[in-house]
Amino acid sequence: MAHELPPLPYPNNALEPHIDATTMEIHHDRHHKAYVDNLNKAIAGNVALESKSIDDLMKALSSSVPDAIKGPVRNNGGGHWNHTFFWRTIGPKAGGAPTGKLADDIKAAFGSFDDFKNKFEAAGLTRFGSGWAWLVVNGGKLEIVSTANQDNPLMGKSIAGAEGTPLLGVDVWEHAYYLKYQNKRGDYLKAFWNVVNWNEVAKNYDAAKK
Ligand code: MN
Repeated sequence: MAHELPPLPYPNNALEPHIDATTMEIHHDRHHKAYVDNLNKAIAGNVALESKSIDDLMKALSSSVPDAIKGPVRNNGGGHWNHTFFWRTIGPKAGGAPTGKLADDIKAAFGSFDDFKNKFEAAGLTRFGSGWAWLVVNGGKLEIVSTANQDNPLMGKSIAGAEGTPLLGVDVWEHAYYLKYQNKRGDYLKAFWNVVNWNEVAKNYDAAKK
């Protein structure tokens, strides 16, 4: 079963003015689509890999993907997983602050919600070149990490330099913000808080604890 580009769960212009419609259209319809197409090409004919879910493929990258195709599966499988996750954890009529257990645990881990936001923005700002910043749960603890290119913490430390189950991620590739924010990645990261869907982040947290 080939991997498929999931539809964006809201219209291209739903995140205006924080993320513009043209960026969303190009980001989803071209960038994400290319990752899906190139992932399918990379694993074509490898029945064991073709039968894995994208989650399982990420977790199996260090152990079960042959070296000959590890690079393309890492880059394009990572791109597919990361963007599918990203579209779901942002959305319209979102932003604000987490509530409940997630809010309590963020305060306990980072000092306050504002401290958390500052640390998360710093992780995105200091990722040189292209990559992602993540809030993960790792061994039961909340942590902020960042990864290069399309790596993600599910791939594990030996590949991605980070590990854990992602709860929230932000794409800091220039393609995610350049049309509206040009070189001002910090402004994009501040605007990002207006589109975070904390209900989805909390669901990710509940699922990660099971
Ligand atoms: Mn992207």
